[in-house]
Amino acid sequence: MRRYALVTGGSRGIGRAIALRLASNGIPVVINYQSNVEAALAVKSEIESAGGEAELLPFDVGNLNEVESAIDKWESAHSEDYIAYLINNAGIRRDGMMFMMGNDDWHDVLNTSLNGFFYVTRKLITKMMMRKHGGRVVNMASFSGVEGVAGQTNYSAAKAALIGATKALAKEVAPRGVTVNAVAPGFIESDMTRDLNEEELKQTIPMRRFGKAEEVASLVAYLVSDESSYITGEVININGGL
Ligand code: NAP
Repeated sequence: MRRYALVTGGSRGIGRAIALRLASNGIPVVINYQSNVEAALAVKSEIESAGGEAELLPFDVGNLNEVESAIDKWESAHSEDYIAYLINNAGIRRDGMMFMMGNDDWHDVLNTSLNGFFYVTRKLITKMMMRKHGGRVVNMASFSGVEGVAGQTNYSAAKAALIGATKALAKEVAPRGVTVNAVAPGFIESDMTRDLNEEELKQTIPMRRFGKAEEVASLVAYLVSDESSYITGEVININGGL
């Protein structure tokens, strides 16, 4: 029986760094993505060139049917293995002041971050972790969900809800040896933050720089390691002092 990690949105940015880091720690990694197959293949080959193991599992985390059928397919092909480490990282931004926000911008952001977390985690918690006694869930929240950011009511709401779900689920599954934690990054260099005015924003950050995806990946690697076995239901900020 082998323990795999599933990283949703593992093809780019923070998810990519997490996939590379977990693989370098000897964990076989399942890289989920939605549409950018070239980016996902590049991560897979980077992991393999470094001697690690990776496979691709595309699905839209916000589409229940896709989630269920992709994970069922994975399970059928891996009857001896299970996904013991789940990193709910897939997320999108659709910023705008609330008085101008369209219905789709509200629903799409909540659907990806929050419903995506629910669909994937419910499937793996019930089908794999609970029966096998042990596992780790790490949810990618955000500074925006902890503090609230103007222009991001949709994103702040999704990430704040994810934090609530993290704390509640942690209490449900703790007796079965499963830990559930959230990571709340501030500004991290990635495609998601490429359109922001970095020069201006970094003046608001005590460390005067954006974080690196690898710095977030180190924290996630800690949360899935044996070193963090007594930490659950926590939200760990990683934001340069923001
Ligand atoms: P990113 O560079 O835009 O990458 C997003 C990743 O998520 C891609 O791999 C993308 O896949 C995938 N994805 C998007 N929608 C998906 C869906 N419906 N189903 C499956 N995969 C999907 O974003 P990032 O900056 O790395 O952010 C990763 C996470 O960290 C997000 O949850 C974000 O909210 C959170 N976060 C980021 C920052 C930051 O400053 N960057 C700060 C706080 C929190 P494709 O390549 O197929 O599109």
